[in-house]
Amino acid sequence: MSVMTPPGIKSSGDYIEEVLATVKAKNPAEPEFHQAVQEVLDSLRLVLQRHPEYRSAKILERITEPERVLMFRVPWFDDRGEIQVNRGFRIEMNSAIGPYKGGLRFHPSVNLGILKFLAFEQVFKNSLTTLPMGGGKGGSDFDPKGKSDNEVMRFCQSFMTELSRHIGPDTDVPAGDIGVGGREIGFLFGQYKRLRNEFTGVLTGKGLNWGGSLIRPEATGYGCVYFAAEMLKTKKDTLEGKLCLVSGSGNVSQYTVEKLLQLGAKPITWSDSDGVIFDPEGIDREKLAWVMELKNVRRGRIREYADKFKKAVFMPTDIKLDHNPIWNIKADCAFPSATQNEIKKRDAENLLKNGCKLVAEGANMPSTLEATKVFLDAKILYGPAKAANAGGVATSGLEMSQNSQRLSWSREEVDDRLHKIMIAIHKNCFETAEKYGTPGNLVNGANIGGFLKVANAMLDQGLV
Ligand code: NDP
Repeated sequence: MSVMTPPGIKSSGDYIEEVLATVKAKNPAEPEFHQAVQEVLDSLRLVLQRHPEYRSAKILERITEPERVLMFRVPWFDDRGEIQVNRGFRIEMNSAIGPYKGGLRFHPSVNLGILKFLAFEQVFKNSLTTLPMGGGKGGSDFDPKGKSDNEVMRFCQSFMTELSRHIGPDTDVPAGDIGVGGREIGFLFGQYKRLRNEFTGVLTGKGLNWGGSLIRPEATGYGCVYFAAEMLKTKKDTLEGKLCLVSGSGNVSQYTVEKLLQLGAKPITWSDSDGVIFDPEGIDREKLAWVMELKNVRRGRIREYADKFKKAVFMPTDIKLDHNPIWNIKADCAFPSATQNEIKKRDAENLLKNGCKLVAEGANMPSTLEATKVFLDAKILYGPAKAANAGGVATSGLEMSQNSQRLSWSREEVDDRLHKIMIAIHKNCFETAEKYGTPGNLVNGANIGGFLKVANAMLDQGLV
């Protein structure tokens, strides 16, 4: 379907500026959301010139407005019997190509703007996976750190009591994100089942013996490394022997390190919000197993690594520093895998100064707009989050398929499908960047590739 462009319409650049100004005015004090929208819209100039029908159908105005935003009270009792009150959210951003899909984040920094940025990114990421999934995101300002298992359970049960009214296997299928791992998904699933009397694939990231998929915990990290390998392939290079910086020490970081080791690379860093570990000897399988126990079982802090492994150095977080020391360590590749905006302009410059030739983003929007520009101007291999970390949600999509069929695929089968999806995402981004006049710019490739599928579905479905 195509719609005529009215005469006297502004250039695509002016149109984009106008939409961006409206987004900022309508969503004040949400800088992360503005940043995510700006990055996508900046990529769409040529698309809008070639396709006036998107403008007449007001696709940009519609795609930047969530279909639904839920915000709710989450009251719960702590172990002392005191009442605690948190805020819960679910942003149902876009369902043009499938049910809403995206993680839940439990972290004290969570607010509406952060979740809107994550939900917006998710729409394009899910589109890139080739699977039929819309975009959503949710969570709470609840901090699981320092809470007992019982407190986490009571919080999750209260959170799900409200959320259960709005989700379902064909409506909205949440998963994990920062602060939401296997333990939390278990408590959330248990409460949903109890309230609805239904055993169904309403969440992904489930335990293996109750509907989960093999490789789902590994998927984001593995997928990010597969994506990095594809980028290197275009330069006839591999990860073998490459020194790699990995930030964070949670789910994405752990499996990024595991896959890097499998492919012969040498990861040398970890971090958490308290500081950075630099291990000049390299992280090996035993050290990785120790970190997994530290973080996933003992729920300890990464500084303990330097007590255990004497050659490693711990650099505590110093808010007075104008840069993050992890990005000032000499390396070939960087895998930011902690949180948004962890690479600022100065950090990007430090990475380049030290010879870094590849950045693959495991975290969501870890680079600021200024840092992204530094990477693009330098023409290094730069894999933006919505492409490079799409393996997590892609494997969630595979978990949904298995649930619908009531089947479980083998580890090899899921890993093989994940690998093929990452190759396809890279190919789509690479070819789209070329087709739209910016060869090698995978930011444009990912934004345009993700956008086209969703925008066309929106055109087909009329004004909804
Ligand atoms: P985890 O909770 O397992 O780990 C998060 C890690 O990042 C921890 O080491 C945490 O340290 C650190 N971190 C979080 N916030 C901050 C902060 N403000 N400053 C410094 N360090 C911080 O989460 P995931 O590994 O699942 O997620 C990491 C990133 O990957 C996020 O951006 C997430 O959105 C993204 N992602 C995750 C996917 C998944 O499948 N899990 C899928 C796609 C993207 P601390 O313990 O001190 O908070």
